Amino acid sequence: MSQPLKTIILGSGPAGYTAAIYAARANLEPVVLAGNQPGGQLTITSDVENYPGFPEGVMGPEMMEMFQKQAERFGTTVFFEMAEKVDLSSRPFKVWSSADKTYEAETVIVATGASALYLGLENEKKLQGRGVSACATCDGFFFRNKKVYVVGGGDSACEEATFLTKFASEVHLLVRRDELRASKIMAERAMEHEKITVHWNTEVVDVHDVEAGKVNGLTLKNNQNGEVYKVDADGLFLAIGHKPNTDLFKGMLPMDEVGYIQTHPGKTATDIPGVFVCGDAQDSYYRQAITAAGTGCMAAIEAERWLESHE
Ligand code: NDP
Repeated sequence: MSQPLKTIILGSGPAGYTAAIYAARANLEPVVLAGNQPGGQLTITSDVENYPGFPEGVMGPEMMEMFQKQAERFGTTVFFEMAEKVDLSSRPFKVWSSADKTYEAETVIVATGASALYLGLENEKKLQGRGVSACATCDGFFFRNKKVYVVGGGDSACEEATFLTKFASEVHLLVRRDELRASKIMAERAMEHEKITVHWNTEVVDVHDVEAGKVNGLTLKNNQNGEVYKVDADGLFLAIGHKPNTDLFKGMLPMDEVGYIQTHPGKTATDIPGVFVCGDAQDSYYRQAITAAGTGCMAAIEAERWLESHE
């Protein structure tokens, strides 16, 4: 039987690759299982303009290729496989992948990220990055003087709608019930904003893209009186929640009710010694590439020190 890996990193977004860069430079010879969306959520955005070091901005997929190359340069091995099952009950930990391989590792760095929830409409996926977005912070800038719609009634929706008023000429908030779920302060901020119009009991039925593959309208439905109508729109922002990709660890690691893994305060360490969690799998609050990268770095440093103290 070959020696267990010093560390295996599950996930290949900014958190996973940053953990890999640090782990590789500490001679931990990390293996990254890239998952079923290699590069993570940034590969579905277009320009990234808020990541320091790119004054002209950078395309999300291109940035993630650079992360990967940088990790490989120092000795990271990347496999385009999905972790399908893990056993964290004893060391070495075991990971079974979609390529029918079994890995054993002394430490595991979980960087499986989160996925924005979408409505499930046929055109919605097709128009991602072309008017449909689940991240106002990332894409809001491209909607200067445009008319945008935000779906959701929680803190994210209110926050994103308020953020979008910096750019858009009109922001419409579509709420499926007749009340917001958001905290009072966020709700008030959105409802009192002169650029924001709230549409109660309203759902999106379809997204239109007659003009060159870009969103140019929506079909909406009032779920109280059944009225269905079309509106012009340049953008559709989904803010109906995120789901951390942590199902694999249910029952093994403590999670909040949504599924975000709980780490020790100020650390990426978990209740299982040798298992570290970074990025959006544990962060419901910031959810930014830069913060994910930061916690990826933390996870690698913690893993390295943990290994040192156990050798
Ligand atoms: P939430 O789960 O709180 O809210 C989701 C919203 O989307 C709800 O209004 C829900 O409607 C609506 N929704 C869900 N599915 C659909 C659908 N298919 N069609 C239409 N609407 C739908 O998610 P958030 O992302 O807003 O917040 C997650 C957590 O993060 C919360 O704890 C929140 O407080 C926190 N947060 C805090 C912020 C801050 O403090 N600055 C900023 C952003 C988030 P319904 O109400 O009918 O279920």
